[in-house]
Amino acid sequence: MSDSSSQGGTPRLMISNMILENFKSYAGAQEIGPFHKSFSSIVGPNGSGKSNVIDAMLFVFGKRAKQLRLNKVSELIHKSSKFPDLDFARVTVFFQMILDDESDSDAYTVIPDSEFVVTRVAHKDNSSKYTVDGKNKTYTEVGKLLRHYGIDLDNNRFLILQGEVEQIAMMKPKGLTPHDEGLLEYLEDIIGSNHCLDKI
Ligand code: ATP
Ligand code: MG
Repeated sequence: MSDSSSQGGTPRLMISNMILENFKSYAGAQEIGPFHKSFSSIVGPNGSGKSNVIDAMLFVFGKRAKQLRLNKVSELIHKSSKFPDLDFARVTVFFQMILDDESDSDAYTVIPDSEFVVTRVAHKDNSSKYTVDGKNKTYTEVGKLLRHYGIDLDNNRFLILQGEVEQIAMMKPKGLTPHDEGLLEYLEDIIGSNHCLDKI
């Protein structure tokens, strides 16, 4: 039997679920989740919308149109013969802080009042807006909030996209010039030891 003393470690952020509305291939509101606390997978045939779920996360994490495989944010709005002229696409991501249950790899406790909800909506005129818990926010404010919880928006290492694993595997061992990046420079940047290079 487990007891409450089996919780340990430090609180960490998790996404509990997401709602996609009129987002790319998803017409109407589609709930994705609830997710497992550490491993969820999305499976389906080619072209069925798996990458679109990742694009939905990228959209809320503030990626620009190009990184979302499109030219304008309005292209995120679902378009089909049944729904040819929808006004908006919206993605809602539900975050919460949790403590892992050390005796059960599936179990966790939600830290009371730690939940928050981030949305981003794309309009037909290519504008987009954020809210946190229903209040309008700028991207700078949303970025600050997410960075506060340890999401590395600058290096994007919390999201490894299709092809990026190969990209890392194909890196040359070491950059050839001071501003060139090889695996050594890449790792030093992640570890933080690049700050010591001058001293060394
Ligand atoms: P693969 O296994 O090939 O990587 P996938 O499951 O990742 O496939 P996605 O790239 O997520 O597939 O989805 C592609 C589908 O999304 C295409 O059929 C495309 O037509 C559809 N799609 C993209 N944008 C829109 C949109 N704005 N409206 C309607 N459908 C869209
Ligand atoms: Mg894909």
